Amino acid sequence: MTLMKNASANAPHGHFTFESFYDCAAAQLDVTPLHVPGVCFNPLCSRDFSLARNWQRYCSTECRLIGEREMRRVGVLAAPAVMAFEMGRRAQADDPLSDLRRVARNYRDNLGAAWLRDRKAKQTSLRGGG
Ligand SMILES: [Zn+2]
Repeated sequence: MTLMKNASANAPHGHFTFESFYDCAAAQLDVTPLHVPGVCFNPLCSRDFSLARNWQRYCSTECRLIGEREMRRVGVLAAPAVMAFEMGRRAQADDPLSDLRRVARNYRDNLGAAWLRDRKAKQTSLRGGG
């Protein structure tokens, strides 16, 4: 009997890697950024700041780390739906995978809408808007 090697030992396939959205959509994001340049992208901060770099989204390291945690939390929620959606890509209408794909798409869409609504509400409350 041959024991399997530890998958992480000398394995180039240990982590899934993929181009970031910021790299993939760089040209479009230059025209339509996700944030207002010079306003902190952390919705709980949202303060004006002077850009040290033109790509800077957060006013401080603390806000960047908060932002990265927020992205991770949303990513953990979205990942199973993204996977289920893709698993059902070629499913026929009577296949249960087709139904799973529909629920996954709705979940992903609702998650994105709720997240954006939450961010805007936080920014509005900090900026004194209504
Ligand atoms: Zn900030």
